[in-house]
Amino acid sequence: MSFENVKKQIEKALKFIEVDENVKQILFSPERILEVSIPVRMDNGKIRIFKGFRVQYNSARGPTKGGIRFHQEVSLDEVKSLASWMTWKCAVVDIPFGGAKGGVIVNPKELSENEIEGLSRNYIRKIVDFIGVDKDIPAPDVYTNPKIMAWMLDEYETIIRKKEPGMITGKPLSVGGSKVRDIATALGAFYVIEEALKYLKIDKPTFAIQGFGNAGMNLAKILYEKGYKIIAVSDSKGGVYDENGLNIPEIIRIKKSGKNVSEYGNKISNEELLELNVDILIPAALGNQITEKNVDRIKAKYIAEVANGPTTPKADEILYNKGIFLTPDILTNAGGVAVSYFEWVQNRMGYYWEEKELKEKLEKKMKKSFEEVLSISKEKSIDMRTAAYIIAIKRVAEAIKVKL
Ligand code: NAD
Repeated sequence: MSFENVKKQIEKALKFIEVDENVKQILFSPERILEVSIPVRMDNGKIRIFKGFRVQYNSARGPTKGGIRFHQEVSLDEVKSLASWMTWKCAVVDIPFGGAKGGVIVNPKELSENEIEGLSRNYIRKIVDFIGVDKDIPAPDVYTNPKIMAWMLDEYETIIRKKEPGMITGKPLSVGGSKVRDIATALGAFYVIEEALKYLKIDKPTFAIQGFGNAGMNLAKILYEKGYKIIAVSDSKGGVYDENGLNIPEIIRIKKSGKNVSEYGNKISNEELLELNVDILIPAALGNQITEKNVDRIKAKYIAEVANGPTTPKADEILYNKGIFLTPDILTNAGGVAVSYFEWVQNRMGYYWEEKELKEKLEKKMKKSFEEVLSISKEKSIDMRTAAYIIAIKRVAEAIKVKL
């Protein structure tokens, strides 16, 4: 989503709260923007240059935090939006981080593993002075994974000549990763969805999930294991549909064998998935999926935004007026960064928690955040996104103000 649209989301929330004019300017301004050229030796021996970004949006509440995206459609504008959302997300779930995001313009599906390693290591070389355990802490996002985090950590530690596992999160367990981090975004979203279902009193809901990666696939698995009926899922090549409920373990098997989910059976397009007659719609892929163009055809009663920025501000307003409940990205998908925070804490203590303890901490955080957002939304009769922004902006503004 464009940064202009993110500013609209911030402006909407500012109408409901008193914020110092000096502070307001800071809320709209990314603190630091890095644009780097990353040379990579390709397998054919030639050098190819990739363009990358790191945006540190706001560090008032702590070191900045945010994932790195490898995608052909990455742009500086998009990275600014994502970095801004990280700032609000960390504040909504009250973890002591500011917000950042990184991205490289690349289609990783066209690169060999060797070339992706070169890209990952050289990206770190270009931003090394600006990241670190107390400065800015990256993590995975679309088309980056624990293996890539391990290369990045290794490159960083080789340069600074000491161990510093807390400089990056979403790492493999063997190099200081945290239990539960692999499923954290999905599990956090599940806790939010469970609370929303209780509030909305939807009995025996049906689900459609767009995107079948770290977030979408794990959420499908958790919901399936809890006995919920998922009638559609998709990946970048399209989706599958069965009104009687999909066999999610079988689709995971297909996906893990290197095929696309649509190999499973009854095919539908990504556009059709969004418009299905379903109770709960879960966008868990890319941004800008629910727009003015298709919003009138959305039939879901509740939209749980697991992807970042799937709904445009215009569509948002229409959904709200139609009475469709929505839990925003900065709340619904915050489980990922919450467990990244737990990972960072464990790295700093050098002591590691068990799965049960981590899940309990995550559940508590997500449910409390949901309750807080819901309570503001009811009190002011506003949508859940604006309510979440109000909580986040108040916390960030306070941290800015005490230092002015
Ligand atoms: P991923 O790379 O693991 O998976 C992305 C999935 O989206 C894949 O299944 C891919 O096939 C699918 N996809 C790509 N383009 C698509 C398209 N045009 N239509 C439908 N599907 C498409 O990424 P992820 O980590 O699961 O991230 C998904 C979303 O969740 C992103 O918006 C990301 O920013 C957000 N998110 C992820 C995390 C996390 O911890 N992984 C945390 C917070 C938010």
